[in-house]
Amino acid sequence: MSNGLRKSCVIGWPAGHSRSPMIHNYWLKQHGLVGEYDKHAVAPEDFPAFIASLAERGYAGANITIPHKETALRLTRPDARAKAVGAANTLWYQDGELHSTNTDVEGFLANLDHVAPHWARGHTQALVLGAGGAAHAVAFGLMARGLKRVRVANRHRERAEALKAKFGPAIEPVDWDKVADELPTTDVLVNATSLGMKGMPDVSLDVGLLPASAIVVDLVYSPLVTTLLGAAKARGLVIGDGLGMLLHQAVRGFSLWFGVQPQVTHELRALVEADLARS
Ligand code: NAP
Repeated sequence: MSNGLRKSCVIGWPAGHSRSPMIHNYWLKQHGLVGEYDKHAVAPEDFPAFIASLAERGYAGANITIPHKETALRLTRPDARAKAVGAANTLWYQDGELHSTNTDVEGFLANLDHVAPHWARGHTQALVLGAGGAAHAVAFGLMARGLKRVRVANRHRERAEALKAKFGPAIEPVDWDKVADELPTTDVLVNATSLGMKGMPDVSLDVGLLPASAIVVDLVYSPLVTTLLGAAKARGLVIGDGLGMLLHQAVRGFSLWFGVQPQVTHELRALVEADLARS
């Protein structure tokens, strides 16, 4: 970095699907910065050595994606948020030490704030589908905004129970096959499962059972409008898609590495949307 070039990258296995280079390189160009954002496919057995050589490779930090987020937590100095979620997706050097956080939390919340400003004032009954990594970030974010009760339905109920054991009594596990009973009292419904992704079955729920004021968020972004979101939109409900979260979660890393707070613009969204449509 001696020539002033600042660099970051995304590390995954595989890494080809990642839209992070498109997002960060857009912002680098937009702000006229001398920087570079690369992607690296690194096998799990090579990941610790790669992380140990990050500075040597000229990187100011990195994004971490599947399947390395849990390992990244162990190999870095995580903040409270990453520790609570149990996974790190954004790494940066501070005083020579590699720190980490989880920006899925703020990505989820910023997207929700964008599609439904002031949602937390009246929408206090949340139902999260899923209990994996993304659901941890969502539940943590909802609790951080003061929700006292977050219902979690997961196919394997024990993972929802584990979430409760970790986050406390605000988490209320719900049987996967009884989700429909919960819908009439749900203000914010979040799909944090892989259901609805290309090649996966859809979330099978009757959105007609939700209150007319409900907000429906899907973390899946390929396809952009999942069957769940399509049905919610057709019913006139407020919806938030996974691309919104993906874009917003990228903001913090960029500002940590390149020193500028970027904006999630319509132009950026259109760029990534077009790329998703092509793939
Ligand atoms: P994960 O840790 O592997 O968890 C997968 C979740 O999906 C689990 O709750 C799992 O339930 C559930 N699931 C999988 N197949 C299912 C099926 N056939 N029926 C019912 N439930 C099923 O994955 P993750 O990292 O949490 O990611 C979940 C989703 O969020 C993915 O679609 C991912 O792309 C998306 N995501 C989006 C963003 C974004 O920025 N938009 C960020 C992170 C993740 P079991 O525990 O019962 O297996």
